[in-house]
Amino acid sequence: MIRIVKSPEPPELRDYRENPPPEEGKPSYEKMKRRPSGHFNRLSGESINLHDYVLSKLLKDQGHLCAYCMCKIPEKDKETGRNLEPTIEHIEPQSATKSTPNWKKEIEYSNFLAVCSGNAGQGALCCDKARGAKPLALTPLDLQCNHWIEYSLSGAIKASQTIPSKEMQEAINDELNNVLNLNFGKDLKAKRKNALDGMRSSLQKAHQDQNIDVCKRKLQELKAPKDPKPEYVGILIFWLEKHITRLEHRT
Ligand SMILES: [Zn+2]
Repeated sequence: MIRIVKSPEPPELRDYRENPPPEEGKPSYEKMKRRPSGHFNRLSGESINLHDYVLSKLLKDQGHLCAYCMCKIPEKDKETGRNLEPTIEHIEPQSATKSTPNWKKEIEYSNFLAVCSGNAGQGALCCDKARGAKPLALTPLDLQCNHWIEYSLSGAIKASQTIPSKEMQEAINDELNNVLNLNFGKDLKAKRKNALDGMRSSLQKAHQDQNIDVCKRKLQELKAPKDPKPEYVGILIFWLEKHITRLEHRT
């Protein structure tokens, strides 16, 4: 998980939420998703599928990585090679806001994340498929997200030792291990380790891993708002930051 900085809400979504077509009644996420054909867009005059359009904006904001496990989305099905469609996840679950004064949350861009298939049908579930509607102690939209998560060389993800409160540390570890299942589902630990080992060995060529300027450039490149981003970029950024600090203290 790394912090996601969202672009402004697509005006088409706001328009649907605030001025729905008269035949629509009260707008909802399910209605938006079910619309079989184009949603007429009063702003641009074009016909679009609003759900797919909003999902494409989320994917762009996230560099085509799952907001939780950071695998590339859409993923390819291992057997058929076909794309597995990413889905829209609600940070505040629909069940928590439906039929409350906050009902519009279910169609607000700020409450959306693009996520992977969650390993559905393949084995232990992860990401939103494992989470269901459980609350999250830390979300990818939180400012602390980049500082409160750390990784081990084996690819394990865990709450940072620097989190000031023990309770918060435990809550985040519970979220990573149990709620989102980011250590045990989908071989994620091994995949993160592979990504890290790959970057380290390419830096080690010609001893570039000891060159502080090369490492800083690599870090800048990884942190830039790019689309697509490399898979499992969170562990790469974490390791490079630590490595650069070690190099700085060496000199
Ligand atoms: Zn995922």
